[in-house]
Amino acid sequence: MSQTLPLRARAEIDLAALRANVRALRARAPRAALMAVVKSNAYGHGMVPCARAAREAGATWLGTATPQEALALRAAGIQGRIMCWLWTPGGPWREGIEAGLDMSVSAMWALEEVTAAAREAGRPARIQLKADTGLGRNGCQPADWAELVGAARAAEAEGTVKVTGLWSHFACADEPGHPSIAAQLDVFRDVVTYAEKAGIVPEVRHMANSPATLTLPEAHFDLVRTGIAIYGISPSPELGTHEELGLRPVMTLSASVALVKQVPAGHGVSYGHHYVTSQETTLGLIPLGYADGIPRHASDRGPVLVGDARRRVAGRVAMDQFVVDLGGDKVAEGTEAVLFGPGDRGEPTAEDWAQAAGTIAYEIVTRIGTRVPRVYLHEDPDE
Ligand SMILES: *Cc1c(COP(=O)(O)O)cnc(C)c1O
Repeated sequence: MSQTLPLRARAEIDLAALRANVRALRARAPRAALMAVVKSNAYGHGMVPCARAAREAGATWLGTATPQEALALRAAGIQGRIMCWLWTPGGPWREGIEAGLDMSVSAMWALEEVTAAAREAGRPARIQLKADTGLGRNGCQPADWAELVGAARAAEAEGTVKVTGLWSHFACADEPGHPSIAAQLDVFRDVVTYAEKAGIVPEVRHMANSPATLTLPEAHFDLVRTGIAIYGISPSPELGTHEELGLRPVMTLSASVALVKQVPAGHGVSYGHHYVTSQETTLGLIPLGYADGIPRHASDRGPVLVGDARRRVAGRVAMDQFVVDLGGDKVAEGTEAVLFGPGDRGEPTAEDWAQAAGTIAYEIVTRIGTRVPRVYLHEDPDE
């Protein structure tokens, strides 16, 4: 625990664990470079400190969804390769060129906007062409690939772009053996071959997210894009626990018990009285709610370590607080309640909360709100 004033709640971010996860993933994909995906505030962990720690552990690339996130990394003084992939018309192409970002292009409108911005900037844009090999989300359809590649080659000849990468994204990499995986790999090899024959010389070809990095060496190509695994969370329970995958959870979410009180049997608890005490008991008030990202769907289910014992959310999660039934135990106000962490002290994990809320652990950590201070541990890599 760090020596700070007592806080209502905190999300401790163990940057040593993040570095160890990055190193473990690099060892799993020894022939590929590693991109640390730090979009969405590093899945809730804090973008800039996590980006720095990932770099220290050998992530030569950083990845974000939006250009604004990538530009914020540059504004924080972070050097090296940064790629962003979620563009909308009128986006900050010129700023991206001047910041030296690698910018994904999935469609002709984007290629037209980026080349216009490059002419104005007087220097070429680094772009990466994205193919939809079957995900059915972003990316250029194979039927439109020839047109996009042809136009990108023309722009290279004109000196407005350099195509630095060819890439795609999996639909079902978290379900090993799913037939779409091999089908997407086949399409990816075809679109890469087509672009290379057309004269494109990519620095990097890449497809693998965390689950593909962990389970599918043939998908590693030149670069793996790992998000959830660098935060120490298994991409899905079917792939194994974080321990089985050699990962360590980075975030520990805790709060200070705000109130403990005795109530009689038959007492309704929280909005709607969905929980009613079955006997005389003690209730503990936990000062975190759905505004902080605690899922309301975990009402009556979410697990919490209070003192030495596992408790459950009693009744509804409210905006700022929820209640646990302490079963008659006397717990001092100010006792630490741990919602999730690595699990070493018997606390639940983000995966336990995902199961309680009917969602995935990605959503649990990413939704932790801005009202919860992030407290960074091991910021100094040499300590
Ligand atoms: C978020 C994202 C990733 C990282 O996925 P994980 O499953 O968290 O590793 C990789 N590539 C793209 C395009 C993404 O949007």
